[in-house]
Amino acid sequence: MTAEIICVGTEILLGNIVNTNAAYLSERLASLGISVFFETTVGDNPERLENVIRQGLERSDILILSGGLGPTKDDLTKEIATKACGQELVEDEEALRRLKEYFARSHRNMTENNLKQALVPEDCTVLYNENGTAPGMVIHAKEGKKVVLLPGPPNELLPMFHDQVEPIIKELSSEVLYSDVVKIDCMGESRVAAEIEDLIEKQTNPTVAPYAKLGEVHLRVTAKAVSEDEAKKLVTPITEELYRRFGHKIFTTKEDETLEDVVVDMLSKHHYTIAAAESCTAGMFTARLVNVAGASDVLNESFITYANEAKMKYLGVKEETLNTVGAVSEDTARQMAEGVARQAGSNVGVGITGLAGPGGETPEKKAGLVYIGVSVNGKTKVNKYQLNGNRQKVRETAVCRALTMVRY
Ligand code: ATP
Ligand code: MG
Repeated sequence: MTAEIICVGTEILLGNIVNTNAAYLSERLASLGISVFFETTVGDNPERLENVIRQGLERSDILILSGGLGPTKDDLTKEIATKACGQELVEDEEALRRLKEYFARSHRNMTENNLKQALVPEDCTVLYNENGTAPGMVIHAKEGKKVVLLPGPPNELLPMFHDQVEPIIKELSSEVLYSDVVKIDCMGESRVAAEIEDLIEKQTNPTVAPYAKLGEVHLRVTAKAVSEDEAKKLVTPITEELYRRFGHKIFTTKEDETLEDVVVDMLSKHHYTIAAAESCTAGMFTARLVNVAGASDVLNESFITYANEAKMKYLGVKEETLNTVGAVSEDTARQMAEGVARQAGSNVGVGITGLAGPGGETPEKKAGLVYIGVSVNGKTKVNKYQLNGNRQKVRETAVCRALTMVRY
């Protein structure tokens, strides 16, 4: 089965907004095993939009349109798609009821324009919108083709696609897909790829696809079969083989589990608390921990100690250390990690100090140099990293390395 994505909106063509809907839809369709061969962006122009839809109906099984479902004049996706499918618009009772209810609740008057949102093509499945007023729809077009219309705002499109469209697509497709996402930290993509060259080469079903993420490499192992159980049976031996090759470097095989989830979960199982002293990352490490809903089990406080004085005042870093080896040094990272654990009374103390650049470099210390100290119940380890990239990337990567050090 093939799908095609059509994003409607002049503001996308002008570069005023970034087409994140297309990226989301492409990713979801790929994970459903649906091939996407075309992706088009078209402005709010009736003729051009109609042409794009007609062309799509000739070459793809499913068309997914984003945007232009609202009540204003330039929102014409529904009218044009209905016409291109050779259908008429009819009033949908439930859509009208919801619309009236919405306006009653928000004490606003409904205009003629708003009423237009209760009209739908005669042969379609209506996707009621839990996050806005414009309903989406799956038009049942000729030859079993489907034309899916989704509202443009991402906070409406994402849940509508995930909760309502994906089940319909899964039902249409005779094969199901199962994947494990094997996530590896502290290794670069090329090194990971080199170690699994043989697996990538001989792949057909399952397939192994590497993706580089910030500070992580993800290997998506995907198989197609008639049932999820069958597909899983094809995936599992490959995942096991990856565990044999990468061992502890794999931190999860779950699609929605993050590195910080694993770290917080691990600390919480040990009944450990953690505190960080952050210099160049200025709170980013702590923010990653707080991404996790259960972070309060393990985290009470952290310190941002950017200047030397702050490192001395709050963490007890020695003036002599700062004057001799400097703030970006193994000794400072160690004293920061130990100092913050002592101050916070936590089991784990993390100290991050680095030179994010640009500028401030010396012959010995280049931008990207980061020292990370991790102290666990008084035993401290310090790693030195020379990271690549701009200021932001160095800081983000440093946080990933610190999470990995805590995990180990
Ligand atoms: P509305 O009822 O809000 O008018 P709509 O379905 O008519 O919704 P549009 O008018 O096309 O959608 O877009 C509304 C807003 O949604 C845009 O201003 C933009 O912020 C966002 N949006 C639209 N298309 C995309 C896209 N492809 N990617 C990301 N955001 C988008
Ligand atoms: Mg609109």
